[in-house]
Amino acid sequence: MKPSPFAYHEPETLEDALQLLASVADDDGRILAGGQTLVPAMALRLARPSHLVDINRIDALRRLEVDGDVLHIGACVRHIALATPVEPGPLGLLLSQVVRHIAHLPIRTRGTFCGSLANADGASEWCLVVNTLDAVLVAHSTRGRREIPASAFFLGYMTTALEADEILTTALLPRLPAATRFGFDEIARRAGDFAQAMCLAVFELEDGKMRRVRIGVGGVSGTTVRAAQAEAACEGQAPDPALFDHAAQLAGAAIDPVDASEEACDYRRALARTVVARALAQAAGLNR
Ligand SMILES: Cc1cc2nc3c(=O)[nH]c(=O)nc-3n(C[C@H](O)[C@H](O)[C@H](O)COP(=O)(O)OP(=O)(O)OC[C@H]3O[C@@H](n4cnc5c(N)ncnc54)[C@H](O)[C@@H]3O)c2cc1C
Repeated sequence: MKPSPFAYHEPETLEDALQLLASVADDDGRILAGGQTLVPAMALRLARPSHLVDINRIDALRRLEVDGDVLHIGACVRHIALATPVEPGPLGLLLSQVVRHIAHLPIRTRGTFCGSLANADGASEWCLVVNTLDAVLVAHSTRGRREIPASAFFLGYMTTALEADEILTTALLPRLPAATRFGFDEIARRAGDFAQAMCLAVFELEDGKMRRVRIGVGGVSGTTVRAAQAEAACEGQAPDPALFDHAAQLAGAAIDPVDASEEACDYRRALARTVVARALAQAAGLNR
């Protein structure tokens, strides 16, 4: 099948892209970033945008750098750019380990970090990362700039707080203190497939106790979620396998799978329990 007819625009500045998008947003004009989701969807006619605003020629959107305590990831930064640590601390290492789980090399070479966020798949690794790390997402339109906390960005399955005329220009990720420990675990049918369940667990270890515990779970419902009760159960405690099993039970009980049958929902909760327990153990260096 071939895509529906569309007009193609290739602006060279952010200002031109915003003007163009504003003029075509009401006519299902869309941003084209890496094209790894949008182009197949167009080929299958699941998406029929009348205008594509290709942002790949905009140099300002290629920014990938640390500024103080924040890592800036611009809208044209590809997944592959994070495969080697982009900063010397735990954040650079975390990103370089997580990126290996995203699709296959050709997709990692074209697809973009911000495109994944805008696409808002509940099984997207980057959606899980920004949600768990409390990142801030920056959107621009002809009306100006606004910052959206990750907790307010993902509204539901493939639905975000972005307006039709807004471009997600940058993701701002807080750098992690040196005492940060993290663990990431994912279950997928085959290497490169979207996750059936995944967990990112992050905490700082102070005097043998876990502080600022953050546990995110993805692939199990329409959006990635934070396991708030599991986080509270671990906060201030010493790492311990029995505690991690308890936290995994709490996380599994809190998720709301979208699977069709009760059996499938139970299976998904079991996967969630497994990845949470494994990610926490990995973070604590108690690998199971
Ligand atoms: C076979 C296959 C396997 C995959 N496996 C995984 C996986 O395991 N994990 C995973 O996370 N992803 C996976 N993906 C998706 C891949 O990571 C895509 O690259 C990503 O979801 C979208 O990024 P993109 O830059 O290609 O966006 P595009 O395809 O260009 O755009 C996707 C959508 O987001 C919008 N958009 C893009 N950028 C912006 C922006 N800056 N501002 C506003 N709107 C924007 C577009 O208009 C479009 O609606 C897979 C894809 C394929 C084809």
